[in-house]
Amino acid sequence: MPPSRHNILNSFDDPISIIDVSNFRILDANDKYLNIYGIENEEIVGKTCHEVTHHLLHPCNAPDETCPLMITATTGNHAVNEHIHYKKNGEKIYLEVATTPVTDGNGKIIQVIHVARDITKRKMMEEELSIFKRFAETSNLGYGFSDLDGDIIYINSYLCHLLGEEEPKKVLGKNVVTYYPDDLKPVLLNDILPTVLSKGSWKGELPLMSINGEITPAIQNISLISDDSGKPVYIGNVITNISEHKKAEEDRDQLNKELTRKNKELEEIVYVTSHDLRTPLVNIEGFSKELGKSYNDLTSIILEENIPEYLKAKVASIMESDIAESLTYISKSAYKMDSLLSGLLKLSRIGRSELALEQLDMNNLMIDIVSTVEFQIKKKGVKLKVSDLPSCKGDEAQINQIFSNLIDNALKYLDSGRRGIIKVSGHKDNDKSVYCIEDNGIGIAPEYQEKIYNIFHRLNPDKSSGEGLGLTIVSRAIEKHHGKVWVESDSGKGSKFYVSIPA
Ligand code: ADP
Repeated sequence: MPPSRHNILNSFDDPISIIDVSNFRILDANDKYLNIYGIENEEIVGKTCHEVTHHLLHPCNAPDETCPLMITATTGNHAVNEHIHYKKNGEKIYLEVATTPVTDGNGKIIQVIHVARDITKRKMMEEELSIFKRFAETSNLGYGFSDLDGDIIYINSYLCHLLGEEEPKKVLGKNVVTYYPDDLKPVLLNDILPTVLSKGSWKGELPLMSINGEITPAIQNISLISDDSGKPVYIGNVITNISEHKKAEEDRDQLNKELTRKNKELEEIVYVTSHDLRTPLVNIEGFSKELGKSYNDLTSIILEENIPEYLKAKVASIMESDIAESLTYISKSAYKMDSLLSGLLKLSRIGRSELALEQLDMNNLMIDIVSTVEFQIKKKGVKLKVSDLPSCKGDEAQINQIFSNLIDNALKYLDSGRRGIIKVSGHKDNDKSVYCIEDNGIGIAPEYQEKIYNIFHRLNPDKSSGEGLGLTIVSRAIEKHHGKVWVESDSGKGSKFYVSIPA
């Protein structure tokens, strides 16, 4: 007995149905055809083709000029077309539909054989690839793929531009080594590519070279791409152009060098001037003392000698109001200049000196500092509380200077209207020791809290003595220790100076 039509259809690998052209209803279909549309145990014979291929969830546009069934039914020609159909559960499938006419004895088309091949996977890949390509074209990262031998199969426009080529097509088929400087070619071939092949990826800084010999510093992220079975098939590379970053780095290094040089120069000037100005200052001080002595001698001579009274009175007035006053101003100014110069000298020494770092017992150091201000503390009736302090790594002389200056200020800027309270505390914060010197003094308004570290900056120069150098020295010494100083203060209530130093 010859096999039935259904059995013959079932022996094909492709999903096949036979459609009656008079009503577009299915006459027969093989199991593969049912499978492709996700239909099980359901009679489809007699249903319209679009009922099955679109499940009426998505109305079929047929008949239209793209429907191969219509083309074959109306023209009698074979037709092939790609179509989107839907499974019974609504899932989209891409099919390549091929139709063949079946004619009766008179050549009239009576049926169409409809073969549907599932091309969903290929289509999805094409779609993904096209999305990737569109994305890659807008990116300012370079994207490139090669085969396992390094022969290029794709690059985006940005990478093409970095390689100095006119269009991506010109690059295809060339080997990746073409675009590396000669000295790096062996590194790429003998080191990087074998690493990618054995470990799956390599990431690092590796410059590219364009066909014109221009070098682009770049970070490259090279990785192996495998097929569905896990077999490596391509090498992919994502390239970040770091020219601007490198340029900024170079500019910054240059600026830093310039800054260091200028700083050194400045420190040298401060050192030389503060040092050299001391000699004339010593002369001024010495000679004004001499003048003072002469003044005293002169006074006694005038008093003792037999000089007419009117002359005595005249000379006495000149001596007291002019000479004595001038001498006082000269010695006051010399004293002021002396403290300014020693402050400047201290500042420049801090800048110039090498740090002798050691682990410092801050409790002991604080005992030393407090002993030097003991007299003031007693005189002012200040309540001082020093908590247990963590150690830190620093230069003893400089750390002593930092804390002495802060304690001096805490004492100096107390509010005369209330009893002074000063607290010194500290704690460890990861690899830092953070200390706090707190006072209940006059405080610092927010707008001045940054400025107080500037050289010679004083908020109320007439109300207290000082040169405006104490905090400049503190901030310079802390900077040298790679630490930080900051203040939290309420005007009229008090200040907390924080110091953080590597522990
Ligand atoms: P100086 O004390 O010689 O004026 P500093 O550099 O030590 O110089 O301080 C700068 C200014 O900051 C001071 O003139 C003062 O106005 C303000 N200042 C510093 N410490 C305190 C403090 N603990 N409380 C209030 N003001 C302070």
